[in-house]
Amino acid sequence: MANDLELRQPRRWRQGRAMASRRVLVIAAHPDDELLGCGGTVALHAKAGDEVTSVIVCEGESLRYGLQGVGQTEHIRRAAAALGVCDVRPLGFADQRLDTLPLTEVISPLEALVKELQPRIVYCQWGGDINRDHQVLFQAALVATRPTAGWVRAVYAFDTASSTEWAYPRTFTADTWVDISATLDIKLAAMACYTSEVRPYPHPRSLDALRHRALAWGNQQCLEAAEVFMTVRRTLQHGETPV
Ligand SMILES: [Zn+2]
Repeated sequence: MANDLELRQPRRWRQGRAMASRRVLVIAAHPDDELLGCGGTVALHAKAGDEVTSVIVCEGESLRYGLQGVGQTEHIRRAAAALGVCDVRPLGFADQRLDTLPLTEVISPLEALVKELQPRIVYCQWGGDINRDHQVLFQAALVATRPTAGWVRAVYAFDTASSTEWAYPRTFTADTWVDISATLDIKLAAMACYTSEVRPYPHPRSLDALRHRALAWGNQQCLEAAEVFMTVRRTLQHGETPV
């Protein structure tokens, strides 16, 4: 039935939808947030042939690990390869300093990327997290993906282990569950690339706790495992109706 409907649509419309559906943008503050929040979902996009770009706004090591760092660049590269993400854009902002900058300095590079990539779906940090960089980045992402960028059809905020649940008040309320039972192992293997960020169990960023978290989110919807999102904005066009 769906195929019949698809065939009856004008060619230009079908092509536009097919092209638009292949662009996904992940906006993460720190190396590993892109994995914690939506690694399993991104792996599903990659498997489906979608073009995923991960933007990692802060360099995420000099403040905590000194100028010599811990090899985050290599961790980022290996984790992205595990997920099937070919395009990673590190922006190199100083870690835990976004709140010292005018917001426009954070918005501008994001706006440029949104304009360049014209993503259909954007995943970003949740503005109610405990981490100030996450809060600032959420505000910047809201502006960079505002509806004047007509190609952005959906913006989803993700749940970041050891940040979203440690905030108060806890304002993240999942409204979208993505079944990642097919990609959970890929997500955990990618997270294992971040040797400086993985913690021993029962820390929320331990591999076992991340598995439990995915199972618990999934079980809420009678699924094996899930990642959860909060819809910031979703627009249906050209006669599309909700799922
Ligand atoms: Zn973070």
